[in-house]
Amino acid sequence: MDNDQAVTTDTVSNGAVNVDSHNVAENEQSMDKETKKEEHPIFKLIEEGNIDAVQKQIDVEGVSIETEDSHGMTPLMHASWKGRTDIVEFLLKQGASPNGGNHEHDYTCLHFAGLAGSTEICRMLLEAGAKAYHTNSVNRTAAAMAAFVGNHSCVAVINNFVSKEEVWCYTRKQPLESEPKLPQELAKSVYKIVMSMNTNPVRIGLILREEPKLVENIKKVANVLELMSDKQFKNRQDVNEILSLKFHILHYILKGIMKEKEIDEKRTEEKKTPFIDRWIKGMLLGRDTDGFAAYQENFLRQGVKEFPFPESQLFKMLVTNFSHCKNYGEGQTAAEYINAAFNGQKGFKDFENCASCGEEKAEKKCSSCKAVFYCDQVCQKLHWFMHKKFCAAMKIQQEKMDALKEQNEKNDKESAKSQAA
Ligand SMILES: [Zn+2]
Ligand SMILES: [Zn+2]
Repeated sequence: MDNDQAVTTDTVSNGAVNVDSHNVAENEQSMDKETKKEEHPIFKLIEEGNIDAVQKQIDVEGVSIETEDSHGMTPLMHASWKGRTDIVEFLLKQGASPNGGNHEHDYTCLHFAGLAGSTEICRMLLEAGAKAYHTNSVNRTAAAMAAFVGNHSCVAVINNFVSKEEVWCYTRKQPLESEPKLPQELAKSVYKIVMSMNTNPVRIGLILREEPKLVENIKKVANVLELMSDKQFKNRQDVNEILSLKFHILHYILKGIMKEKEIDEKRTEEKKTPFIDRWIKGMLLGRDTDGFAAYQENFLRQGVKEFPFPESQLFKMLVTNFSHCKNYGEGQTAAEYINAAFNGQKGFKDFENCASCGEEKAEKKCSSCKAVFYCDQVCQKLHWFMHKKFCAAMKIQQEKMDALKEQNEKNDKESAKSQAA
């Protein structure tokens, strides 16, 4: 018995180290070995993905939903670890606690979902109230563990998650207020902004363009975002500097749009373009030499500098990045640095970003030069006033590159042929 226990502790502590060194496969193996000891049958059924049998265990056999195995893992933890989305959904509906269990190394369901790489399960657990700030015995949050093993989309989901209550609480009137800070009918649209994984000012401008109610009440919305930023940083239980900085940047962008709106309201001459379009175009306006959006760069850098909590590590990291990148156009843009700070750095990028709003996985190419990508026609149309100055030159460059690529492929084929002969 003593011996048995010694082995178990050994494998598990090895497992914890393995996760840190990216070796999840071994960790999984050691966990699999352990679960094969005499555990409650429900854990095996979860592993097999047998939802009907799991349901029967809970509904008919009366097995407690918070049953723990010998490592303190609950059924929900097992289902999260095995990526069993349907079982996770069922267990949550039955009232399983997303923060439950007593894992011997303090892993939570969210840690397991992040390690397993399931964005869907991460989202479900967060919506059910999983606390992203819980740390395991090596002091790492679920997002940190997911980042370790390269599950960047889980990191992004965890870091950007905002509970609905965090927005809806401003729609209720406080004791000394004559009206709530946020009109009820705006809550949904504000939630859309704060949940956007892309804080590029052009993308935010486009969201606002589609939501005229937000523009009408832009001052209120900007104020609420500022309050939300403050609350995240001052939360004693869970300082979330990512969300604090994100809400601050959103507030700063809205403030910028608000200024444009005020100028527009004072103008008496005929208004050919709506002010929001004018503001977005300002964000895309590039310098003559290469079209680099210098105004946007300065605007965003200034926005970060105005973050009221300079002690934040994330703030310091961004400011350092900016100071290393003095020559505009070298390295990443401020919008890219900011998005990376919120969503995590991507290890390997196998997609194109929209030349207009920075959205990932842009698939529409400029039909002439085939060198720049856009989300859709809306983004392309907005960018054309800039791109038209460079399209022809980019086309020549792109054709040269394509010809070179073709020649290389031909050479490779020929050398392979001669080798075979
Ligand atoms: Zn776009
Ligand atoms: Zn083009």
